[in-house]
Amino acid sequence: MKSAVIVGAGLVGSLWAVFLARKGYQVSVYERRPDMRQKGYIGGRSINLAMSERGWKAIEKAGIRPKIEQVAIPMPGRMMHSEAGELTFQAYGKADEAIYSVSRGGLNLELLKIAGEFPNVQFFFQHRCTDVDLDTESITFEDTATGQYKTIEAPLIFATDGAFSAVRYALQKTDRFNYHQHYLEHGYKELSIPPAEGRWFPARSRRPAHLASRQFHDDCPAQRRWQFYLHPLPAL
Ligand SMILES: Cc1cc2nc3c(=O)[nH]c(=O)nc-3n(C[C@H](O)[C@H](O)[C@H](O)COP(=O)(O)OP(=O)(O)OC[C@H]3O[C@@H](n4cnc5c(N)ncnc54)[C@H](O)[C@@H]3O)c2cc1C
Repeated sequence: MKSAVIVGAGLVGSLWAVFLARKGYQVSVYERRPDMRQKGYIGGRSINLAMSERGWKAIEKAGIRPKIEQVAIPMPGRMMHSEAGELTFQAYGKADEAIYSVSRGGLNLELLKIAGEFPNVQFFFQHRCTDVDLDTESITFEDTATGQYKTIEAPLIFATDGAFSAVRYALQKTDRFNYHQHYLEHGYKELSIPPAEGRWFPARSRRPAHLASRQFHDDCPAQRRWQFYLHPLPAL
């Protein structure tokens, strides 16, 4: 049987495990966090994701569309708040189209569950990738529960370990590997704003995302830059 190692059981890794399992691969998925099926969603971004048609196609192929539809909130467009207080609605698509606000943790959990139903998918949680050796076709993990390191043979590795990918970091040390990283100037802050008393919307009602951009100085109009951007997403 063909075998593959996936590093990272986030949104991409858990979905990819489903697809590889269906293709008949023996799949080993290594994830540095504990198993969220038992421990819940830990760390990372907790805000909802805005999911469009491309995301739905993947969800459908994974076979969990009906489940996710129950918790997805349609957003038909965005309501822009100008500095003068005017509101402008900008549709995301045609009248009956929308993008959907979906719980990131909830989506990841469902993907993990479906991947876990395949007998040819094996998960290793609390396993942090620390190195990849292309010469020996091997990959090293730290079992963060025990502190032990183990190196396994891995001729086929899929790196889905996110923005600070340990696999990519290992590859950066190889000859002629070209890498560029660019940081945004802005920070990021999550706020949770519950609705006012008696202002609950019916679940799954269509709601626009309200966006507001502000700048603190505009002394040079040619260099106007948004200094502040507020992007609320409805959540259940
Ligand atoms: C603030 C913010 C808002 C966003 N909003 C949207 C949105 O509205 N819509 C949208 O489509 N996308 C959005 N994105 C992008 C989206 O989050 C990413 O595209 C998506 O999470 C990428 O999935 P992934 O599986 O590649 O990485 P991740 O979701 O980051 O998963 C990586 C996984 O790898 C694990 N891991 C990391 N390092 C290691 C290691 N060394 N060893 C083992 N495991 C490891 C992590 O624990 C994690 O489980 C947003 C991103 C941010 C930061």
